[in-house]
Amino acid sequence: MSSRSESTVSGTGTLPEVRFRLRLKPGRERSLRLHHPWVFTGAVEQVEALEGAAPGDLGDVISAEGAFLGRGTVQPESQILARILSFEDRPIDAALFRERLLRAAALRERVIDAGATDAYRLAHSEGDELPGLIIDRYGDVLSVQTLTAGMMRLRPLWLDLLEELFHPRAIVERGREARREAMEGDEAQDAVLRGALPEGRLEIRENAHRFVFDLVGGQKTGFYLDQRESRRAVEQAARGTDLLDLFAYTGGFSVHAGRGGATSVVAVESSAPARELLLENWRRNELPPERLAVQGGDAFQFLRRDERTFDRMVIDPPPLARDRGSLERALRAYKDLHLWAFVRAREGAMIWTYSCSQHVSPDLFQKVVFGAARDAEASVQWLGRLGPGADHPVHLDHPQGEYLKGLWLRVLKPGKVKEKRGT
Ligand code: SAH
Repeated sequence: MSSRSESTVSGTGTLPEVRFRLRLKPGRERSLRLHHPWVFTGAVEQVEALEGAAPGDLGDVISAEGAFLGRGTVQPESQILARILSFEDRPIDAALFRERLLRAAALRERVIDAGATDAYRLAHSEGDELPGLIIDRYGDVLSVQTLTAGMMRLRPLWLDLLEELFHPRAIVERGREARREAMEGDEAQDAVLRGALPEGRLEIRENAHRFVFDLVGGQKTGFYLDQRESRRAVEQAARGTDLLDLFAYTGGFSVHAGRGGATSVVAVESSAPARELLLENWRRNELPPERLAVQGGDAFQFLRRDERTFDRMVIDPPPLARDRGSLERALRAYKDLHLWAFVRAREGAMIWTYSCSQHVSPDLFQKVVFGAARDAEASVQWLGRLGPGADHPVHLDHPQGEYLKGLWLRVLKPGKVKEKRGT
């Protein structure tokens, strides 16, 4: 393993070559001058491909007048034609990745309490100026998601570095379902890229609680690292309450609530393997089984049909709008979910509610939730906005990096069931 030569790139020993030149339409360089890392097809006048150019190769972006604007990876088939790695005319090499990875790691050293948490996002794509590359640390295992063909082709530049800088026991690549782009010669399997995984399930610690999951193969559950701060907030407010955890997955929120002293937790989750892990995580944290009820089925139906009410609710659905086309349907779903949540909330209940749909802006989400409160005739306070922890930075030049938004609410007067809402 350690015999790999550091400078080897694709076995050729050379730096990746710049094989594309993208000339912008006149007057379209503004967003690049502002360092936005994406170049959209619409802004590009001409794509010049040099001999042997393949999707994912490096390209230079130049203005209509020919001035250098940035260098990045190019994906000719994509709406996002290029993702810029440097706005300076410098080689895209291991030194660049070293700088960015060290800077990313330095942030995590500051913001993660290593005594309580050993799982966090080490590199967050555009947020850490590494467009297309996500690296999660799960204890001593690194999990990488390569979201673009470009980052895949540059792997020889960063993979060795991950070993050298972070000394993981193993580096695994998560499957291509995470990727935004199709790519040639793509292996469909999850792969252990370096080292070896320990036998059995991985266990991590978050806020001093223990969680297991499957990283590769089998159920491939993974673990949502972006809710760490919210889970802690829920834990702190849980004592003596009846809590409903909707879309509970493997129990991140449920376990925090249990450890925080919740009297009872009802967890609703449609996936059977996830529910199994939820139960395992509950046990691992030495929580009494009688305080947990795990429900299969649909969370929307649960709210309509089950007449129990709660002091605390967590609502963390999967992305309901995956594209602009499904936005309207998604907004109706969010509205419905919250109408019923306000009905099932007790007086004084707290609700933590989230949307991780890229296409639903924080303002829009807020509008829908507030609209639901009005329609249900609930009286609701807004206590704060919620988002991922600081290990998921959003670069100011790339506001699209903000995907998870949430609202913390308190219900002064619960909502009413109305006839027309039916079942
Ligand atoms: N809150 C979780 C993450 C939720 S991810 C955590 O902290 O880890 C969204 C989850 O919703 C997934 O586990 C998915 O299986 C589940 N899900 C999707 N649609 C559902 C539905 N209609 N009813 C219940 N669960 C659903």
